[in-house]
Amino acid sequence: MIALGALLMVVVLGMTGYEIWRQYNSTITLAERNLNVLADVLVGEIGRTISGVDSVVEQSVLDLSTEGNRPPEQIRRTLRDRATGVPAIFGLLLIDAQGLPIASLHSLSPRHHAFAQSIRASVAGQNLPIHVGTVTAAPFDGTPIIPFSRLRHDAAGNIAGITVAAMSVQYFQEIFLQVKSKTVTTLTLTLARQDGAILVQTPEGATTKMSGMTEFRPDSRDNGLIHDDDTSAGRIVAFRTLRPYGLKLSVAVNAADLLNLWRSNALRLLLAALVAALVVAALIWAILRRLALDEAQRANLRSIDNQRRMAQFSLDAGADMVVWTNDKGSIIYANPAAHQALGYAPGTLFNRSIPDIDPSVPPAAWEGRLDDLRRAGTLRFETSLRTLSGKLISVEVSIALLQADGRDHTCAVIRDIGAHKQSEAILAERTKRLEASNAELEQFAYVASHDLREPLRMVNSFVALLARRFGDQMDPEAREYVEFAREGALRMDRLILDLLEYSRVGSTGRPMAAVDLGTVLNDVRQTLALTLNEAGAELILPASLPKVWGDFDELARLLGNLIGNGLKYRHSDRLPRIEVECLTQDGQITLSVRDNGIGIAPQYFDRIFRIFQRLHGRDRYDGTGIGLAICKKIVERHGGRIWVSSTPDQGSTFFFTLKPAPAA
Ligand code: ADP
Repeated sequence: MIALGALLMVVVLGMTGYEIWRQYNSTITLAERNLNVLADVLVGEIGRTISGVDSVVEQSVLDLSTEGNRPPEQIRRTLRDRATGVPAIFGLLLIDAQGLPIASLHSLSPRHHAFAQSIRASVAGQNLPIHVGTVTAAPFDGTPIIPFSRLRHDAAGNIAGITVAAMSVQYFQEIFLQVKSKTVTTLTLTLARQDGAILVQTPEGATTKMSGMTEFRPDSRDNGLIHDDDTSAGRIVAFRTLRPYGLKLSVAVNAADLLNLWRSNALRLLLAALVAALVVAALIWAILRRLALDEAQRANLRSIDNQRRMAQFSLDAGADMVVWTNDKGSIIYANPAAHQALGYAPGTLFNRSIPDIDPSVPPAAWEGRLDDLRRAGTLRFETSLRTLSGKLISVEVSIALLQADGRDHTCAVIRDIGAHKQSEAILAERTKRLEASNAELEQFAYVASHDLREPLRMVNSFVALLARRFGDQMDPEAREYVEFAREGALRMDRLILDLLEYSRVGSTGRPMAAVDLGTVLNDVRQTLALTLNEAGAELILPASLPKVWGDFDELARLLGNLIGNGLKYRHSDRLPRIEVECLTQDGQITLSVRDNGIGIAPQYFDRIFRIFQRLHGRDRYDGTGIGLAICKKIVERHGGRIWVSSTPDQGSTFFFTLKPAPAA
């Protein structure tokens, strides 16, 4: 298309160029033709005029030879008669062989320098009978005239005298003007002698001398047409020679003037061509743009079509139901999943109304739902839909209001949550059962440990009684056995007490409340004051602590256990240093208890939180292995988690999270 446009523009511009060139040629050819015609007309006219003058001069010569010596007055009369019929003649002068005047018309005198010159030239060029002089002013009135002289000879062939006619310059000028008045171009008409001396010229003084001009050079032809580029403006000249009189006539036109018209025409043409080219370019641009737009539109349509197909696929293949309604609540579209889930044959949901499938929206309630949608834009709720067979299925509905054709439409994406609901119910049931069994178990542990203490106390007291009453009668071995039995009973009591404590966590029935951790820690510090002092330990607590949501006693037990462990598992090389820190981030409180004790190997990080799990023998560190299990139970009851990080031989840090107390 662009190539075609370029070609079209080249053709338009090429044709314009050709037309301009053709007009140039025809302008020149026409001018040449006109100049030739004018030159021919002029040369004829001027030739006739001069030959008229010449015949008067010749006749006078004849008259003189036939009439002999007549009185001058008579001769002058004859001369006047002859000259009267030839308007180009201003005056006449007859001179004898001695150069003396015989007769004259208009008081011409041989002494007048122009005539004298003419006479001298005539005599000098004897074999040329005619001589034309240069322009001069006539005596008395100064009229510009051109002397025209002819020699007279007697019967023997000697010079008998000269006849001089004064030709009127004005007469020739009138001929020139007459010719010029018939043309529109500015012409320069010149009548000059062959030596270049100008005799008559229109416009006057257009050139001062013709001798330099091409057509006046000695080697120039007599007649012809030339393009003279020597002059500054350039000329086209048609010239003719009046050979008998030694005169040349030139009709010249200034090439620049001549081409002015052509130039303005060419400019107009060029402008028109440019406008045409621009119009062509604009047209092509418009077509190209249209084509590009069409292509973009096609691409857009393709992409819309693809999107439509993709959307259609998701509707057809999607597991969720999709139902469109109009503002009256009539179904205008339902996808295959909707038909299948509601038990309808494909396409049969069309034109059904929402109340047909959703018993929670009776016909009168539809407008209300639409209003809710207009307010909220989208709604999300759970409801039950009725299948064709009357069964109810639980669904979750996301519904949005959309405008189409200036009317409200709704689009509902419906998910069958029947299975989900069922598993939720099963889960809830299981949790309930688990909670019940846990409670039962805890109750059992509590009762068991409580009731176990009674016979244990009996064992304990009877073993003590045995030692007291019969200790003297026993041998050392028996005494040792009794001591073992007493220690075992004591340890068992402690185990039962710890177990009791473990089972009591969360079963006190006290409700959770806002607890100030600062108060809890102060309480703990006081409880452990003696042990801390004895061990020479340093306990560092944060300057300020937040309030948490929990049980004061349990939190005190938790922190007491962790700080107590930090003291118990201290390193023999250094005094114990225990630091409690607190970090609140993302609505969660993390507390850490860091010690500089013996540390724990990473493989035990989980194990130590299990009940009865101990890493050391009782001979080294006393304990039951329940402390951390109690801590874990307390933290989890508070909705948090507990973990440890440690480097053996350097110390351990126990972390646990708690929930902040809600703002009062
Ligand atoms: P107990 O201290 O009665 O043995 P715990 O449940 O409190 O029981 O601790 C379980 C085990 O975890 C301990 O036996 C001990 O080996 C290890 N342990 C607990 N706290 C620390 C601690 N701060 N530093 C090193 N070891 C610890």
